This record gives sequence, C-alpha cells and structure tokens, in this order.
Amino acid sequence: TSSPALVRAESLIRSIADYPQPGVLFRDITPLLADREALHATTEALVAPFLGSFDVVAGIEARGFILAGAAAIAAGSGFVPIRKAGKLPAPAASVDYALEYGTATIEMHDDLPAGSRILLIDDVLATGGTLAAGRRIVEELGYVVTGISVLFEIEALHGRDIVGDVHTVFRS
Ligand code: AMP
Repeated sequence: TSSPALVRAESLIRSIADYPQPGVLFRDITPLLADREALHATTEALVAPFLGSFDVVAGIEARGFILAGAAAIAAGSGFVPIRKAGKLPAPAASVDYALEYGTATIEMHDDLPAGSRILLIDDVLATGGTLAAGRRIVEELGYVVTGISVLFEIEALHGRDIVGDVHTVFRS
C-alpha cells in the first residue's frame, strides 16, 4: 500500500455502518471502481504477485466478477465465473458452505483443461467461508489454485485461518 495511487485507492473504499444488517460495517468499493487511477492501481496490485503462475482468473459472484474480469485483462488471461446456485447454464460442480445464518451454494463449470492453474479473486475477505468454498470447488474439478487475491481483508474475522495463504491489497 505504498504508491500514491494505492493510497488514494484505499481512501476511496467507503464504510457503511449497519448495511445490509445491523452490526455490519460494509466496505463499499464502488467509489474505488469508479476512479480510473484507483481501479488500475488496485487491479495491478491484485495480480502482480501471481503473474506467470496462473492460466485463468476465477471470480466469485458478484463483486468478485468485476475485479476478476479486470485482473484477467491486466494479466492477459481468461476469466471463469463462480456463481451462486442456479445461475450457471451447465453447472458441473457445486459446493455448500456455512454462512453466519444458514448456508449458501456456489457452482462452477468444468470446461477448462485438467490441471488448469487458477487465480481466485474476491473483493472482501470476511469470515473466509466464501473463498474457502471457492478453493474447494476449483479443486473438486481437478484444477489447481495457484493464488488467492482479495482487495480488502477484515483481519478481526480471521478469514485467512480457513482460507489459507491469501494476498490482500488493503486491510483493517
Ligand atoms: P465471507 O464468506 O464471510 O468471507 O464473506 C465474504 C463475502 O461477503 C465476500 O464476497 C464479500 O463481498 C461479502 N462481505 C462480507 N462482509 C463484508 C463487508 N463487511 N463489507 C463488504 N462485503 C462483505
């Protein structure tokens, strides 16, 4: 978090109290996304440690799509969506995971070559349940997670304890 562009980008992450429910401090990245310089700098920071070590970027619905799509263009790789249940036309793998209240399911297609190297991207690392499920679904399909990269980590929730090695650009 050293370049002027990244310092500026961090200042464009807006914290919204009690959204979507009381007690949650929501990290809203939309002002950062709208800023040309901030979007470029953070996209570069997301992929830089992993350049040359992945074939495809996988993004987790929905804000992960935005960053993963940008990252794929920056790195010259392809993009694959990991979606909430029922959204993909030809789901090949699905993984259930626990949320604070209830469970959720993510799905992914299986049309990459076996052994494809995947960089997994999402916007915020909170409890880590989502990214841990993302790692599981990629591995279930026979691909290899060669990196996990996240824009903002909420350290107090210790998500990296269940996700494993994660590169994060900003943290609180
Ligand atoms: P988790 O599975 O708990 O790590 O939650 C991660 C997912 O929920 C990410 O895809 C985030 O987009 C979203 N999320 C969780 N907590 C927040 C937060 N405080 N601000 C913004 N997004 C959040």
